[in-house]
Amino acid sequence: MSTGCTTAVVAIGGNSLIVDRQHRDVASQWVACQETCKNIAEMVERGWSLVITHGNGPQVGFILRRNELAAYEMHTTPLDLIVADTQGSIGYMIAESLGNELQRRRISRPIVSVVTRVLVDREDPAFQDPTKGIGDFMSEDRARGFEANGWRVVEDAGRGWRRVIASPAPLKIIELDAIRALLSGGFIVVAAGGGGIPVIEDESGDLVGAQAVVDKDRATVLLARDLEVDLFLISTSVPKVALYYREPNQQWLDRMTVAQARAYHAAGHFKPGSMGPKIEAVLAFLEAHPAGRVIITDPPNIVHALDGEGGTWIEA
Ligand code: ADP
Ligand code: MG
Repeated sequence: MSTGCTTAVVAIGGNSLIVDRQHRDVASQWVACQETCKNIAEMVERGWSLVITHGNGPQVGFILRRNELAAYEMHTTPLDLIVADTQGSIGYMIAESLGNELQRRRISRPIVSVVTRVLVDREDPAFQDPTKGIGDFMSEDRARGFEANGWRVVEDAGRGWRRVIASPAPLKIIELDAIRALLSGGFIVVAAGGGGIPVIEDESGDLVGAQAVVDKDRATVLLARDLEVDLFLISTSVPKVALYYREPNQQWLDRMTVAQARAYHAAGHFKPGSMGPKIEAVLAFLEAHPAGRVIITDPPNIVHALDGEGGTWIEA
């Protein structure tokens, strides 16, 4: 491994694996994944060791929709199992896409996906106040029918009824030591997909799956921090971070310092539930590792950004 570049955590956005609403089918998901992996392969070719995390928001939505449609006949799937399912399916897609691309480049590197659990506090206030809307919108009648399954459903800003779940703070990656061992063994590791499977410790000390989802960016920062990586690269669906996003005076940012990021965030430039959690993750990472570097960009710009010609760079 070259000394210039060392270890990076690359977070692939769940939304960036779905090109648009008209191309949500599995074939299109493969194409998007392969495109992203071409750029990640370039990082491997340049000597980076990688841990890859990924989102799963849209994919969880598809599985929930299937649950809803099949509920008359088939049991519904608890959320911890849905997250585990998506870690398997998306982890497989990344391993296969990246592995094939590396093989085309005559690079031999093993890739492994780790089914990853994340510890959350059972007293986390998020459990008392589930706010994260998931799945599709539905009628009140239909939504109420699912309350019998323990789903919490609410009316969402005039758009219809929707299931809401808790999004507690991740405290610890249960499989951290395994991920570390695989990384130092030369593996490219896919981990903490969908923010990890949330588990709580019950009164007896056993771990039990929680009906919640952990924000992918919040879980990724735990990995980036604990593995003390040199680079935290967030691959999402925008080439750069913007001020006044989607307003007439929108301004793309080439770089910002931690102090600037904090001030822009306080001024409301980064939307909650999308760019907001990414910036919070970046700030937490750079606070723990002031020497670390962060890039936020989209898949086609990963390589340009590494060359200093794209993306938004954030440094202490
Ligand atoms: P991911 O699936 O990668 O987590 P998200 O949709 O959650 O993606 O977050 C990325 C999105 O954040 C972008 O596609 C963009 O629409 C939105 N966004 C909100 N605020 C900003 C901003 N200030 N600059 C750039 N993008 C922003
Ligand atoms: Mg997101």
